[in-house]
Amino acid sequence: MDDRDGLIWFDGEMVPWRDARVHVLTHTLHYGMGCFEGVRAYATDQGTAIFRLREHTNRLFDSAKILGMDMPFSKAQINDACRSAVRENNLKEAYLRPMVFFGSEGMGLRADNLKTHVIVAAWEWPSYMAPETRELGIKVQTSSFTRHHVNIAVTKAKANGQYINSMMALAEAQRGGYDEALLLDPQGYAAEGSGENLFVVKDNVIYTPVLTSCLNGITRNTVFHMARHLGYELREKLITRDEIYIADEAFFTGTAAEVLPIRELDGRSIGEGRRGPITEKVQSLYFDVVRGKQVLDADWLTPIL
Ligand code: PMP
Repeated sequence: MDDRDGLIWFDGEMVPWRDARVHVLTHTLHYGMGCFEGVRAYATDQGTAIFRLREHTNRLFDSAKILGMDMPFSKAQINDACRSAVRENNLKEAYLRPMVFFGSEGMGLRADNLKTHVIVAAWEWPSYMAPETRELGIKVQTSSFTRHHVNIAVTKAKANGQYINSMMALAEAQRGGYDEALLLDPQGYAAEGSGENLFVVKDNVIYTPVLTSCLNGITRNTVFHMARHLGYELREKLITRDEIYIADEAFFTGTAAEVLPIRELDGRSIGEGRRGPITEKVQSLYFDVVRGKQVLDADWLTPIL
């Protein structure tokens, strides 16, 4: 990742990609206290635009507030940084990674005298999983790792350190020949994937877990708007793993993963064992909305120019 041409926005300046470096005593590297976003920009008929940039920046600031990190930049500056990172790297479509971290000004858990640093990198990341999974769906395993308890990790923050849990779960699933993990919350209800929110469809109603242990996904919120637009009822509820086994359809959502059908959980086919009709409608509308071919909210696309 580090050896390529391009520019990274680093504390207010555009820095050559290979020079965007930190010291080994960088505080966040030691304790994982930091927060980040994953954002996407898509090609639209009006040029490249960032999807739901304001919501991502708002969540980044919320995460920093939860963690008690003082943001040295305004939301407007971060929004501009995101636009510049896509524009100055000449990207037509991009994945963006804003990240807030403590520097190497000091060590120790007291975290005093530390500066908060911010970067925004952008690069091409066309498809999070193999492209054919968009149609065929993925194989998922219920993880032996539990998703965060609300008073162990702060689940409303997209915090760096929380992703140890995601990575352990994903690695375990992949070692077992699955594409993704489904993590249950400490009570045993379905929470989310390693980097995605969960939806299931039963008798034409779309369900998604309540947010207690899950990240408040921006794609999840987009699905709420799309369900209303498509005329489907959508309910938040506690969902058990066996409810997913007998669901008609299931899918994951996330900025990186987009709308990803789940064809199998723990060796049980979900519905017909491939992308279901409602998942297909939601997915197809999603790709139209992010590329500006259908407009559900005119504020969702921020042009980079
Ligand atoms: N849950 C987790 C744990 C995630 O990392 C992500 C990706 N940010 C999501 C859900 C989906 O969130 P979003 O739709 O905002 O990308």
